[in-house]
Amino acid sequence: MNPFRLVILGLLAWFVYKVLRSWGSDGSPTRPRPRGTPEQYEMMARCLRCGTFVPRDSLSERGRCRSCEKNH
Ligand SMILES: [Zn+2]
Repeated sequence: MNPFRLVILGLLAWFVYKVLRSWGSDGSPTRPRPRGTPEQYEMMARCLRCGTFVPRDSLSERGRCRSCEKNH
């Protein structure tokens, strides 16, 4: 068999697996959401210094937003 084909098949299998898993996690009672809403909303967290809500990813490890880290 062509190795290139094997790669394509692997990717396909992975993709199907991911889709099936995302379907399986759908309908969980803890996170109700309207249909058609993309999954990728950001977790918000509060800056410990100024209290601004920012995406959790942009908080530093000390829980501060970027501007507070800069002004520190
Ligand atoms: Zn801040």
